[in-house]
Amino acid sequence: SIDTAGLKTMFDAIAVAIEVDKDRLCQLDGVIGDADHGIAMALGFGAVRDALAPLDLSATEPTALLNTAAKSFLNAVGASSGPLYATAFMRGAAAVKGRATLAGADFIALFQAMAQGIQDRGKAEIGEKTMVDAWLPAAQAATAAHAAGKTLSESLAAALEAAERGAEATKDMIAAKGRSSRLGERSLGHVDPGAASAVTVIGAMRKSLA
Ligand code: ADP
Ligand code: MG
Ligand code: MG
Repeated sequence: SIDTAGLKTMFDAIAVAIEVDKDRLCQLDGVIGDADHGIAMALGFGAVRDALAPLDLSATEPTALLNTAAKSFLNAVGASSGPLYATAFMRGAAAVKGRATLAGADFIALFQAMAQGIQDRGKAEIGEKTMVDAWLPAAQAATAAHAAGKTLSESLAAALEAAERGAEATKDMIAAKGRSSRLGERSLGHVDPGAASAVTVIGAMRKSLA
């Protein structure tokens, strides 16, 4: 099972992966947005890392850690990804309330709640060329794999594949939410930066929990 130390390790791994990917994410956002997505995500996960670092993990429950992550991400990020990921972590926190450690089923519930939180916060549907196009299929794949008896590691591998397919599919979508929706058909042919960063986040989660 995953304890708060495991969750902290996971957030640290996401921060590293996003930092490595920062320039590519800014470039993707430069094509159909305002070129700040990599900076926003790096600021957000950097702030989460800094906020989690001083916590006494033996005295911190998963819900409190995730709420700390939510608050620090929200405070650090002015871009649209700020409230979206903050809501994801807040919903994830609520999904594991009362748990001292997370069994596979708990983590799947957390993951599903994150994706649902992003959708609820931004009101984007599948096909509108946003991070929802990566997060929602990823959560569905993880939940289905878990229900079929797969391990957490296998379920997150399935989630990552679904996120990759979802992000790739945003190339053929016209943006209908967020800044890039102003481009209309000119957004066609380009990967959505938020969907691309979702793949990076989910990939780091899978790797750190494998
Ligand atoms: P901003 O557009 O404010 O600069 P970012 O560059 O950090 O914000 O994030 C842009 C990404 O946010 C988009 O690529 C898209 O994936 C995501 N996004 C924007 N609006 C929404 C929404 N309503 N629902 C879900 N995701 C959204
Ligand atoms: Mg942007
Ligand atoms: Mg911006």
